[in-house]
Amino acid sequence: MWDFETDPEYQKVLDWADEFVREEVEPLDLAFPHQQFVPLDGMRRKAIDPLKDEVRRRGLWATHLGTDLGGQGYGQLKLALLNEILGRSQWAPVIFGCQAPDTGNAEIIAHYGTDVQKEKYLRPLLNGELFSCYSMTEPHAGADPTMFTTTAVRDGDDWVINGWKFFSSNAATSSFLIVMVVTNPDVSAYQGMSMFLVPTDTPGVKIERNIGLYGERADEGSHALIHYDNVRVPSEALLGGEGQAFVIAQTRLGGGRIHHAMRTIGLSRKALDMMCERALSRETQGSRLSDKQFVQGYIADSYAQLLQFRLMVLYTAWEIDKYNDYKRVRKDIAAVKVVMPSVLHDIAWRAMQVHGALGVTNEVPFLGMVTGAAVMGLADGPTEVHKTTVAKQVLRDYRPAEGTWPTEWIPAKRQAAQAKYAEFLEHEVGNQ
Ligand SMILES: Cc1cc2nc3c(=O)[nH]c(=O)nc-3n(C[C@H](O)[C@H](O)[C@H](O)COP(=O)(O)OP(=O)(O)OC[C@H]3O[C@@H](n4cnc5c(N)ncnc54)[C@H](O)[C@@H]3O)c2cc1C
Repeated sequence: MWDFETDPEYQKVLDWADEFVREEVEPLDLAFPHQQFVPLDGMRRKAIDPLKDEVRRRGLWATHLGTDLGGQGYGQLKLALLNEILGRSQWAPVIFGCQAPDTGNAEIIAHYGTDVQKEKYLRPLLNGELFSCYSMTEPHAGADPTMFTTTAVRDGDDWVINGWKFFSSNAATSSFLIVMVVTNPDVSAYQGMSMFLVPTDTPGVKIERNIGLYGERADEGSHALIHYDNVRVPSEALLGGEGQAFVIAQTRLGGGRIHHAMRTIGLSRKALDMMCERALSRETQGSRLSDKQFVQGYIADSYAQLLQFRLMVLYTAWEIDKYNDYKRVRKDIAAVKVVMPSVLHDIAWRAMQVHGALGVTNEVPFLGMVTGAAVMGLADGPTEVHKTTVAKQVLRDYRPAEGTWPTEWIPAKRQAAQAKYAEFLEHEVGNQ
């Protein structure tokens, strides 16, 4: 059965969330910019906690995890519908307890963590009391994890971690890091890498620099270059089994990528909304911008692109709920990841153009969105790598043609068709 309607009861919930985000949460982006991952202090706590409490009362807190894992059990499709509302605002995911990278991190601790690890890390993470960091990329290698060189070596009951990690988002404000390291260099990287849960204040964790994105002030950066310098952790810090890092990474990144895509729908829609309002508001050379065919083209292309993307994301979310197996949905998650940067880029760029000079200022959000689109083409893996994944998965369903000519080669098919319907063809000829 195919159905494109939202359950009316859940639609009411979404309507409430939409108004709540616009009225209560979006103002936080301007009142407390870039502070959503800074642990709460006195005054900010007073502003933020009541909003989180309201979300909890509505049953919308941490909807990304199943009830068995401490979440609400809404599944990815319902989360997608909610996330596209949250995507409008930087603060909204934190207020709803479903922000990246913590969602992905919570998911893998829930799946692979021991009871002690869940108590120590997952529970406070789900309560929104602390932040986490996923520390995988290295300065010399990102897209190819088989090149990672950070190691953990056993020393008695401990492990000692040494190496460098790059672009570890939110490390500076996180309570713990999930670090991917080589534990056995003698086997393939797919079997020789493991993950560790490392409290950020462990001696030897040295944040060398917090790198900022374009447009951020030098002191605003949140992507850390970390030197792990003889970082000693007990064996209980191992997440999952030894050598399981690749399997765990796939679980984490699969969820993370689709959550970004859900929020990107909301952000792209914000750009489209702004473009349409401006087109109806501004007049030049005798008519409104909305009467110019170029601008109509921008609006039509943006609407169609967003609709295609949204259906793709919702379908993929539905598949994740149905199969409960990221591996099985890998092709479509990768396809969503490939499309995501261009959807946001194209719509934001057109909206920026329609706003004229105002469009390129820091008084409207478009260039931030364009930078955001560029980030999406890299974070969680470059577009090129995901295209390769899509192509490989698509090709799995095909076989080479037998012989020299394609299976659909018309001369051979025509001959076969003529043979199949020879009796009728002869009759046709006879009638002429
Ligand atoms: C905002 C942001 C946040 C991030 N947060 C985190 C984080 O929290 N934790 C973390 O560990 N990492 C994080 N990353 C890092 C991210 O995962 C890497 O940037 C990404 O994996 C690419 O690695 P790289 O930057 O080293 O690029 P490289 O591996 O050097 O690749 C550079 C370029 O080479 C090309 N290329 C690479 N491989 C292929 C291929 N197989 N086929 C064709 N072309 C290819 C692509 O054009 C690619 O963009 C973040 C990145 C950004 C931008």
